[in-house]
Amino acid sequence: MDKYYIAIDIGATKIRVAIGDKNGLIEKKVFLTPRTGDSLIIARKIYECILNNYSSFIDRVESIGIGTIGPLDIRMGRVVNPTNIDIEIVELKKPLEDWLKKPVYVLNDAAAGVLGEKMFGLGKNYSNIVYITMSTGVGGGVIVDDHLLIGKLGNAHEIGHIVVDYDSDIPCGCGGYGHWEAFAGGANIPRFAKILARNNPNMIKTKCYKESLRGELTPPKLFKYYRENDMFAKYIVERIIKASGAGLASVINSYDPELVTLGGSVYLNNIDILKEPMIRYALKNIITEPPKIETTPLGEDIVLYGALALAINPPEELIRIQK
Ligand SMILES: [Zn+2]
Repeated sequence: MDKYYIAIDIGATKIRVAIGDKNGLIEKKVFLTPRTGDSLIIARKIYECILNNYSSFIDRVESIGIGTIGPLDIRMGRVVNPTNIDIEIVELKKPLEDWLKKPVYVLNDAAAGVLGEKMFGLGKNYSNIVYITMSTGVGGGVIVDDHLLIGKLGNAHEIGHIVVDYDSDIPCGCGGYGHWEAFAGGANIPRFAKILARNNPNMIKTKCYKESLRGELTPPKLFKYYRENDMFAKYIVERIIKASGAGLASVINSYDPELVTLGGSVYLNNIDILKEPMIRYALKNIITEPPKIETTPLGEDIVLYGALALAINPPEELIRIQK
């Protein structure tokens, strides 16, 4: 009998629930992430979505994999104080196991992403892989010697908080300064742009400059202005590229990967602007043999593929700590 798996991607704005098998995703459903409610509201919505759409499969479902926004309490398989959502604790593993009577595995979305890259993407023939997402935040998933790195609390791959500018006044959402994500995370770009505008009062007052000063510069507008040759947009994007090149160099030096794949909406929508200079900057600062650095072929579905890979083949390290 064919075996099926349920794959779930929990983002700050959308939740995607898919059914799949060892060959890939078969069908997916998308709904908006509840922004308020009790600790079970998200699990309940997911459970309803599974019952409404995949009930004919449910007897043949082996397990469920979840890639979610953090921060994670990896041992309990739940999210604690997620940014952008007004829910203190998001219980996932326990209620879904109780209701579905199947094993549920939970990982940070980027950590799931690298599992997806290995099973379904470019990583099939590699043992040392890093997946980097540049989206609302900057995150990563890391496989070294065929092992997924997890860490004591599940934060072994928080590469977005690598300090890329040690004397910086650019704050990160986490409370630190000068972190990669402070420059390149989509959620931080309006604040970063505002500080740059304030610090450079003598710059030409372009459209981008004025919007930055008002704190209204979104990532899509920034890259649109860049394409229109706005001088201030070029100045900001240059800083994002250098911060990302520095972060990428640190990642390569820390994990010695054979393959690095890049994804996330900020990157995927602006590959033509970001990819080549970011890599050029990074490769000037590494001490190891350069890895292959590619755009992920799994696009916006990489976390779903990762959740599917997690359900099919949960890492032993995770099974040991997630009970
Ligand atoms: Zn940070």
